[in-house]
Amino acid sequence: MSRVYNFSAGPAVLPEEVLKEAADEMMDYRGCGMSVMEMSHRSKMFETIINEAEADLRDLMGIPDNYRVLFLQGGASQQFAMVPMNLMKNRVGDYIITGQWAKKAYQEAQLYGKANAVASSADKTFSYIPDVSDLPISEDADYVYICENNTIYGTKYKTLPNTKGKTLVADISSCFLSEPVDVEKYGLLFGGAQKNVGPAGVVIAIIREDLITEDVLPGTPTMLRYKTHADAASLYNTPPAYGIYICGKVFKWLKNRGGLAAMKEYNEKKANLLYDFLDNSKMFKGTVEKKDRSLMNVPFVTGDADLDALFVKEAKAAGLENLKGHRSVGGMRASIYNAMPMEGVETLVAFMKDFEARNGK
Ligand SMILES: *Cc1c(COP(=O)(O)O)cnc(C)c1O
Repeated sequence: MSRVYNFSAGPAVLPEEVLKEAADEMMDYRGCGMSVMEMSHRSKMFETIINEAEADLRDLMGIPDNYRVLFLQGGASQQFAMVPMNLMKNRVGDYIITGQWAKKAYQEAQLYGKANAVASSADKTFSYIPDVSDLPISEDADYVYICENNTIYGTKYKTLPNTKGKTLVADISSCFLSEPVDVEKYGLLFGGAQKNVGPAGVVIAIIREDLITEDVLPGTPTMLRYKTHADAASLYNTPPAYGIYICGKVFKWLKNRGGLAAMKEYNEKKANLLYDFLDNSKMFKGTVEKKDRSLMNVPFVTGDADLDALFVKEAKAAGLENLKGHRSVGGMRASIYNAMPMEGVETLVAFMKDFEARNGK
């Protein structure tokens, strides 16, 4: 078996132990003679799978009892519409624009009400997180919206914005379960699973109970109401059952590794190894302000597009895959999610050193 080190931003690397377990259970899940893909989502077997997944996630994140966990579909992008449709009572949302995903959410919200851009880092290609300590929060804002880890640009909020008492909504797609989180600071957190949690097709929303109401915008489809899914415990219709099963396995894997505090420590070690190299290299440079660096997505450049292309090509040949940066930043990006082992980052840094020695001036 030959597996590469996969630095893709998403869908992304999953823990090998999880993939092996899933492979072992593929033909006959725990003696029931069928795979999880083939079983009824109303069966006892699946009920146990989804309930355990929720319980383990609650345990990992310390989710308080007055928050509901919803397993949804439609990608993180569908939340860009669900958020305003469900939360815009005054039809006002304040958005902090720190990259393309935040911008897309902001643009989507404009279809439903007044979306205000209260801060932005567009002036420097989203290479930093703006000062969010004293924003011009609208008096009638229904919520303040952030994208907490910016997958494309490699920035992460180190302190949450001062929302001046307004509900905080966060897209945590690319930092989900990468470090401990204080759920109570948010009204709603959501993320697509395919970055750091599981396969594409599952979106997890964690929402405070008082925000789940029937008072949604007129015309909001039944399937796009949080209440529909909360009332039915994520089984209103057929959920992304196999994806939930894999997420559940990842949750158990994380618990076995010591939970989110232990993951944070491991993720910091991995990221520091790469950032330290970038800070000392004469050829490679990180593109993000140091104080705002993400532990998950690390963009870097050589400053020479031809050299970047050569690097990506040679890295691929050496088993280091998907290092090409997003087209809006150029250069390279290494996504080093939970399931990327330390050896993967060590191999990458060794390769970069060697590349620099061979191609440096
Ligand atoms: C990938 C990503 C999205 C989009 O996710 P989809 O599931 O493809 O809709 C949204 N937000 C962030 C932060 C992402 O990284």
